[in-house]
Amino acid sequence: MDGMSESVLPFVAAQPLVDHHCHGVLQAGGDLAGMLNEADGDAVADGMPLDSLAGLALRRWCPPLLGLPPHASADSYARRRAELGGQEVRSRFPDAYARALRERVTAPSFGSAVVGFKSIAAYRVGLELDGRRPGDGEVVAAASRWLGGDGGAGGAPPRLADEVLHRFFIWCGADLGLPIQFHVGYGDRDIDLHRCNPLLLTGLLRALEPTGVPVMLLHNYPYHREAGYLAQVFPPVYADLGLATHNVGARATALLGEALELVPLRKFLFSSDAFGLPELYYLGTLLFRRALSAFLAARLDADDMSYADAERVTGLIGAENARRAYRLEA
Ligand SMILES: [Zn+2]
Repeated sequence: MDGMSESVLPFVAAQPLVDHHCHGVLQAGGDLAGMLNEADGDAVADGMPLDSLAGLALRRWCPPLLGLPPHASADSYARRRAELGGQEVRSRFPDAYARALRERVTAPSFGSAVVGFKSIAAYRVGLELDGRRPGDGEVVAAASRWLGGDGGAGGAPPRLADEVLHRFFIWCGADLGLPIQFHVGYGDRDIDLHRCNPLLLTGLLRALEPTGVPVMLLHNYPYHREAGYLAQVFPPVYADLGLATHNVGARATALLGEALELVPLRKFLFSSDAFGLPELYYLGTLLFRRALSAFLAARLDADDMSYADAERVTGLIGAENARRAYRLEA
């Protein structure tokens, strides 16, 4: 944790984190510019994503892990990374690897435990979902529409873009009593971002409330304030800033401050939403710790909060809220 210990409050640095939403790390180490943010195609040509706050954060914090000085050029970092190979890069990110492994362990395969579900309705139909549980007839009709549709390239099944089916999956998850994660807000260009405002979920949240199933609003940026409102007024709703934290780089502290304006502190969670690149797991964790520390240090300086409360809030956000919602062992 290069350079972190002197600038981060000790209890924030020491807090174990439960990463409640992340993906697997790529075996080959991944393409740096192509996977740093949510863009693709020409938008990632010529290393464009590296000229961003996320790219600057990567060049500030990751080079020392590979034996280079902070702020090393993107070229020298990429060269060093290629020399070491993806395997070696991963081995220098033990926290990241453990987190990726945990994601595998919770995947629905033999010998693993499932602790929740994730809806990608935002990516397929947007978040304006009817609150009503669909009837069997509606589901059968929707499924036959889907299966009878034109497939994708190479005989792939047609895209599952049917509001009834997404709603059906959500209710199936609710029936099993496990938390349901929703992709909200920021994501790759596959989404229509204006259809990913969490306020569009209001009807469904009202309908799900009596089930008591925790609803986890993921990412949320730039709708993190809307998500905080929903978490305040709907008892089972939680929120995080995954994905956005490392994409805004040095602005993570400001973003965290906005996200925490309304959200109950017992319903805000840490997640990296890191995907593929080992660096993203590291940066997601590091920038989150720095942001939380800076936020709390400012509250302590202004005497807005006691030291004991700052420590307690760190424990809640870092791990306890996730443990409670997902019923994880301590
Ligand atoms: Zn994700």
